Formats: sequence, C-alpha cells, structure tokens
Amino acid sequence: MEYIVLDLEWNQAAYKVDEEAEIPFEIIEIGAVKLNEKCEKVSEFQALIRPQVYPFLLRRTKELTGWTDKDLDTRGIYFEDACSQLLEWCGKDYIFCIWGTTDLVQLERNMAYFKIKIPWKYPFKYLDVQKLYAMQENEGKTRRALEFAIEHYQIPTERPFHHAVDDADYTAKVLQRIDMAAYSTFFSVDYYRVPRNYFEEQIFYFNTYSKFVSRSYPLKEEVIQNHRVREMNCFYCKKKLIRTIPWFSDSGRSYLALGECKEHGFMRGRIRVKPTEKYNGYFAIRTIRPCTDEDREEVENKRENLKEKRREKRKRERINERLRTAAKKSEKTAENEAKGGAGKTEKAAKAVKTVKAPKTVKKTVNTGNSKES
Ligand SMILES: [Zn+2]
Repeated sequence: MEYIVLDLEWNQAAYKVDEEAEIPFEIIEIGAVKLNEKCEKVSEFQALIRPQVYPFLLRRTKELTGWTDKDLDTRGIYFEDACSQLLEWCGKDYIFCIWGTTDLVQLERNMAYFKIKIPWKYPFKYLDVQKLYAMQENEGKTRRALEFAIEHYQIPTERPFHHAVDDADYTAKVLQRIDMAAYSTFFSVDYYRVPRNYFEEQIFYFNTYSKFVSRSYPLKEEVIQNHRVREMNCFYCKKKLIRTIPWFSDSGRSYLALGECKEHGFMRGRIRVKPTEKYNGYFAIRTIRPCTDEDREEVENKRENLKEKRREKRKRERINERLRTAAKKSEKTAENEAKGGAGKTEKAAKAVKTVKAPKTVKKTVNTGNSKES
C-alpha cells in the first residue's frame, strides 16, 4: 500500500451572497506526493485549476498562494480533468495522508458539485498527519500548524509554504518522521458520508479505544435517544458493560457515561453529536475507552457537579416561585387595604417592596475584596 500525501488550495466568494452553498470553497490547486510502503518518496503530482464557480481570486487567496487570476486562466485545467488525472496517478492501493481534517471533505464537495463519482469505498479511512504528529510529540494533546512541525524536525525550508504541492511535500517529510509501526493504525474516518443504514454502521477498534459511527437522524434528540448509540460494550471482551453512571450531557458538546466490566474494569463512554454534511440530520460518534482511576473520578465529578447545579437551579426556582406568590398576595392585600383606607397604604407598599426581591436568593459570591461593615 502506498501513501498519497494530499494538499489543496481553494478560493471562495468575495461576498456571502455570491456563495454557492454546495461549494463554499472551490479548489484551485491540487498537490500530492506519493510515498511507497517504506515511506520513500516516489513521485509528485500538481494540478492548477481554472475556476468555474468563483472566477476571481480573493486578495487573501492571492497573497497566501502566490497565484494570480492569469496563472489559473493560462496554466489551469478544469477540475474534472484535474480530478481524473489525480485518481489515475494515485493508482490502486493507497491511503490518503492529510494535514488536518478539512482537505478530503473539500475534495469530496468539489467532486459532488462537478458530478464526479466518489470512487472510495465506505467508510473512507485516511491518516491525519497532524493528529499522528500530535500523538507522537505531545500525547495527542495539541494540534500544531505544519510550519511548527517542520521547524521542530529542522526540515530545511527551501520551498515556499501554501502551494499545494510544496505543503504536500512538507507533510510527507513530517510523515517520514512518524513512527509508523506505532501510529499508522490510528487512521481517521472521513465524515463527509455517514452510514446510510444499520449495516453500514460499524465499530472501529484502535489500540486504546473503540469508535462507533451512527447513521443520521433528523433530530438531535433521536440520535442521543437511540439505543444503539447508547450501547456500551467492553473494549476487550465486547460484553455488555454494567452501567455505573448513565449518559449525561457534559457542557452541551458531548455526553459521558461510565460502565464496568467485571473482568476488565471501568470504561468511559463519550458521545458527540454532529450535523451531517448537508445539514439535513445528525449523527453520533461514540467512543469507549478503558479508564484510569483519574478518568473515572473526572466523570464522577462532572456528574456530581451537574447534579449539584440542577439541585441549585430547582431550589432557586422554588424560592422564586414562593416569593412571586407572596408578592402577589401582598399586592392584593395592599389593594384591598387601599380601598379600605388611605392611611394603611404606606405599610402595604412596604410589604410589597420587601417580598419583591428575588435577587437576594441568587448565590452570593464572596469576591474577597468586598468590605464587611
Ligand atoms: Zn470485558
């Protein structure tokens, strides 16, 4: 199997009103570098593309890529031709390697717009070199710019950045410094297409976690309620886990749960819900990973915090409700008293004033610099 390190440059509409929704970014350059199984460079591919959707390059695009409208008009070929040349050059057995997660989606969007059949089978796996670099150099914690990795490995920078083929070459040079025996199994899955049915849904097993990608549903709630999405099985023996903390929303972005296998210990589940490419539905990505005591505590704490917040919210609501009722009641009394005798109004008004202050229920925060008298 060969590695196709791919990089794209694209242009967009100058104004949002001129944007074609199906192709917000039009590819103007495809660059690629082919590495053999031993990660040795065997060839290079470059195509400049004559734009058909957004005919003029944005000033920003010009500055970034160095290309001019004239370059693309005179040296560029149509995307359809560039794409078929690329696919032919790629060969039969290869995996795409990309810096980051966006280029493949853009390629597929452009292909769909120009009615080119997507030839890659589903699910579409690729290597995200930016992710592999992060895993190797800082335990996967920080995603860095390509320039950062180039400088880190002291790779000579005689080629300019932001030309597709040059960036592909730099990405290939970073890939050559990744320990592929350790990291090449950490492929990424492209989400331009999501499973269309039950049978296309599958679980991927990586070294330290499993990942399940669901089909799409019209509503967010349907995804998170789906029992297949909520399922938790042991990462090792695949047996159903005993649920110790059921799924709960973790600050809106994702859902967490904790399960236990009697034989293999605790596992943490995480569900992320994402909109589909065409924004006509939502799908879920669920990961399950065996967890350390710290991970476990983190989930437990988050759950506890959430419970505490809910308790406080309910308490506040109850008190506010009581205050509102009391206020209404005394308003009425005041009214009645006002009707009865003018002298008593002052007292009634006072009563309204004192109860009409739900502010006092709010949590008092001791800022440390408030002076106490
Ligand atoms: Zn197990």
